[in-house]
Amino acid sequence: MSTEQAHFEELSHAKIIGLTGGIASGKSTISAYFGALGVSIIDADLISREIVAQGEPALESIVAQFGKDLLLKDGELNREKLGEIIFSDEVAREALNAILHPQIGATFMKRREQLSQEGNRWLIYDAALIVENNLQDLCEGLIVVSCDPDIQKARLMDRNNLSSIEAQKRLDSQFQLSKKVALADWIIDNSGSLAASQKQVDKLFRELCLLFGKPKAKNEYD
Ligand code: ADP
Repeated sequence: MSTEQAHFEELSHAKIIGLTGGIASGKSTISAYFGALGVSIIDADLISREIVAQGEPALESIVAQFGKDLLLKDGELNREKLGEIIFSDEVAREALNAILHPQIGATFMKRREQLSQEGNRWLIYDAALIVENNLQDLCEGLIVVSCDPDIQKARLMDRNNLSSIEAQKRLDSQFQLSKKVALADWIIDNSGSLAASQKQVDKLFRELCLLFGKPKAKNEYD
């Protein structure tokens, strides 16, 4: 493919706006607000669940690598057990990533292609690990959902029913939110009320529409 063709290909694809945050900073909440405004969302967590469903090749590779013990009685992947293994074992984590990442990438490209063909000029890629996986350069811009650390921890304890120590352990296993905020093109501060966050989303949505065009799906401003 010539450089010109590659440039044209890129132009015809929906632009990717990354959406990330820290655990329980409110990424899913904000993503849902954008979705309600008609923005097309590609959800990395959803993709990572779909590709390990029964009958999918990634699940077979995981069983070949880690053993049948990782399956629940009904044949579904025991995600909790797998999570425990990779949490403390870096080699296992890398082996799992080697299985999952190509599949996630391929599914993402397929979805983006489809959304582009449907006429979407931009989409939101909702993913917890954009910065950890160094994917921010693939994005036209990055939205980071920030939150006051104490409020973030309290919401995490509440949502996941965790003790303070357990919650802190999860927070410590991720990149600090401040590191992500430093890379953000747009910040949604979700430390306040849901209404206050919704207002910030509305404002940013209008800005993104001015920059990249209105979304294809109907929204409340149509
Ligand atoms: P993430 O997707 O970043 O892990 P969630 O969107 O699931 O975070 O939010 C974490 C928890 O905090 C959820 O229980 C959610 O309902 C709650 N929450 C999110 N934003 C707010 C807010 N502005 N005010 C009160 N609770 C919130």
